[in-house]
Amino acid sequence: SPSLSSPQKAYKIVLAGDAAVGKSSFLMRLCKNEFRGNTSATLGVDFQMKTLFVDGERTVLQLWDTAGQERFRSIAKSYFRRADGVLLLYDVTCEKSFLNVREWIDMIADAAHEMIPIMLVGNKADLRDSASAEGQQCVSGYFGEKLAMTYGALFCETSAKDGSNVVEAVLHLAREVKKRT
Ligand code: GDP
Repeated sequence: SPSLSSPQKAYKIVLAGDAAVGKSSFLMRLCKNEFRGNTSATLGVDFQMKTLFVDGERTVLQLWDTAGQERFRSIAKSYFRRADGVLLLYDVTCEKSFLNVREWIDMIADAAHEMIPIMLVGNKADLRDSASAEGQQCVSGYFGEKLAMTYGALFCETSAKDGSNVVEAVLHLAREVKKRT
């Protein structure tokens, strides 16, 4: 068993997805259990640590937040290279962010040595009903699930605002990551 003198391995998890899908908010919900209505755009890359118990085993995650902006894609790519797993977010009320998922997956596959576990996350699920009522085109869970299956990715829908499924999504991914390493 690991002693205090041998630091435990921290699994590197990278957050990816278009700007404004809620990556920073997701991370803030996960690590601080907080939500702020108006966050400014992420600049560059920053990370947070989170300790979880995965099937009773203490597991340390190092979560990297990347910016979704086009000009930061080269930076994001260098993070995928060292990632053990990816949380790939889109916004269920923004079809464009869902259509861009394929591009993100191609980028991950291109950068990583082997296919690393990906959790596809449809975020802002709390907004879907009101957005649909206003006539906005939203992404159904069915299409999210289908796309995830195409790429052998895991899938869930979350809300960084009300916190639903955030920890579950990360736990599920961490379990898959540990299985493969
Ligand atoms: P990022 O650019 O991907 O890091 O996105 P942010 O975390 O900055 O979020 C963009 C905007 O969406 C902010 O105004 C957030 O408050 C909001 N937001 C993020 N996640 C959610 C969510 O789950 N539900 C709702 N209603 N708003 C969210």
